Amino acid sequence: MKELREGKVVGTLGGSREIVYRRVVDEKGRVTLPTEMRQQLEIRAGEEVEFLLREDGQWYIRKGFPQRACTFCGCEVDLIQVWGQTLCRRCAKKYLYLLARELELDIFVGKSGNLPD
Ligand SMILES: [Zn+2]
Repeated sequence: MKELREGKVVGTLGGSREIVYRRVVDEKGRVTLPTEMRQQLEIRAGEEVEFLLREDGQWYIRKGFPQRACTFCGCEVDLIQVWGQTLCRRCAKKYLYLLARELELDIFVGKSGNLPD
């Protein structure tokens, strides 16, 4: 019934068309995501994907969602992404200030030396 070929429609799954993309797992357990999947989900290098195991034993993969709260204070507004971490702008400024002070850089610190708002 099913012919497993790259990108070929092979039947239905839950009433919708099913297309199979086959990949070979390498010796470290890695696979390459199909180009069509990366394009459709806008998955770029460095982004996360999530593997979900459901109660029925089926595995699913989906694009990871960025963290929705600041890593440091937990607030959920005014967020930015830095090196894969989610920070609010207030904590980012504090962190930047502390880094500048630790590294003895005066380029980021105001003339007063006060912690930025
Ligand atoms: Zn914060």
